[in-house]
Amino acid sequence: MIEVKNIHKSFGSNHVLTGIDAVFEPGKVSLIIGGSGSGKSTLLKCIVGLHEPTQGKVYFDGDEFTKMSFEEKVPIRKEIGMLFQNSALFDSMTVEQNIVFSLDMFTEMSRKEKVERANFCLERVNLAGKNDLFPSELSGGMKKRVGIARAISMNPKYLFCDEPNSGLDPATSILIDELIQDLTEEFKCTTVVVTHDMNSVMGIGEYILFLFKGQKYWEGSNQDMLKSDNKELNDFVFASPLMKAARDTIKQ
Ligand code: ADP
Ligand code: MG
Repeated sequence: MIEVKNIHKSFGSNHVLTGIDAVFEPGKVSLIIGGSGSGKSTLLKCIVGLHEPTQGKVYFDGDEFTKMSFEEKVPIRKEIGMLFQNSALFDSMTVEQNIVFSLDMFTEMSRKEKVERANFCLERVNLAGKNDLFPSELSGGMKKRVGIARAISMNPKYLFCDEPNSGLDPATSILIDELIQDLTEEFKCTTVVVTHDMNSVMGIGEYILFLFKGQKYWEGSNQDMLKSDNKELNDFVFASPLMKAARDTIKQ
């Protein structure tokens, strides 16, 4: 479980996050949604420690991460898997080298064990045998899957994905969502996904946190969302024809 208490983040005079509280449960995918620039990526980065919050606390399974020294954070960092917005693969490395990278950095595994682990992760994302390809030889969906394979290489307890569906066609997006959901259940991860994809919201939106101008405006499930009268949420969500149709179906 991850708890976020009263997180603020400013860049100079730009107050990007103002007092976010949230609880992310294990074995479940939680979504953070909101318009561009609402602070979603900044919140994710504050949680994983890529940004230091200006104020507020983050707890990983009860331990206060935000007050730890760099060294104290290392054991928790090892349990965090992260899929970045643009996949962020190393272009000069093969698929396998990309996946083994964290294992090289953080584990004492033998070469054979690392390759076995890489193969396991590749199989899990349906890319068995693609070890020696370079990122330039992969489609967008395959890159995302390599990114996911890398994120799960260390068997993470906490999984963070920033816009895992951006740039993907709808069918591939759904496969990626299902993969994230399956991995979360299988490994009992506490998973947090930033998205503005309404298909994801309807598919895996059991818990959704809606950010508006750096504040938490609303939280609940996708079913609650269809019935909500929160204006900012409705303006954001029902700009999508898909969501309008879903709401109209319920009202009938
Ligand atoms: P989102 O992911 O919801 O689109 P971001 O969290 O990326 O939004 O950005 C929210 C705001 O924070 C934007 O106004 C952006 O310019 C600002 N911001 C994000 N990262 C930085 C940074 N490293 N330095 C300065 N400002 C930043
Ligand atoms: Mg972002």
